[in-house]
Amino acid sequence: MRILIVEDDPSVADGILDGLSTASFVTKHVSTGAEAIVAISDFEPDLVLLDLGLPDMDGTDVCREIRKSSLVPIIVVSARDEEIDRVIALEIGADDYVVKPFGMRELVARIKAVVRRSTAAETLAEAWPAEREFGPLRIDTRAIRVTLSGNEVHLTPKEFELLVYLTQDPGAVYRRAEILHDVWDTNWYGTTKTLDAHVAAIRKKLGDPTWIESVRGVGFRFGVPT
Ligand code: CA
Repeated sequence: MRILIVEDDPSVADGILDGLSTASFVTKHVSTGAEAIVAISDFEPDLVLLDLGLPDMDGTDVCREIRKSSLVPIIVVSARDEEIDRVIALEIGADDYVVKPFGMRELVARIKAVVRRSTAAETLAEAWPAEREFGPLRIDTRAIRVTLSGNEVHLTPKEFELLVYLTQDPGAVYRRAEILHDVWDTNWYGTTKTLDAHVAAIRKKLGDPTWIESVRGVGFRFGVPT
């Protein structure tokens, strides 16, 4: 597995490089956001470890930029241990978040979990028809595209994943814990808030809150508004 490490602090980068080589990962290290964006197409990583504090660009902008062309799993690495950063990390399309300082064993476990989830999501997407329609809503899992009455709906990768997840079985109630486990990592802090924020964002983009109905105290249910 190929891992791109985007980190400007040489001592942190050396530690990660050592640890990941020991775990038999193929690594490439860059120290700026601009180099990171180039490496996405040159190195074709299977996963990106992205430091948020970079000398040339903010890590959040690097993440957004990568997401314009790639769904490669991204783990944000940061010293800023604040709730807001975790929420931002998810909203900009990162898959997980680790806070410095962290142990190598923890990092390797997170990498494996993220890769496992992204592989599971791909398998799920492959098992389904690429295009499915729910009334005026059309979801194309191959093109990663959602349209509503023919108009494109711009979802973040996580919003897309959540919507696809809920549409597996329209009308069925998915429990919060179940959604968090399957769509996010369970060791994430503030996930309940994050889940609500993502549901709210999807409802807003679909223009009708009843696409995703809240089932009080339980979770959420997808359905075509009547
Ligand atoms: Ca840094």
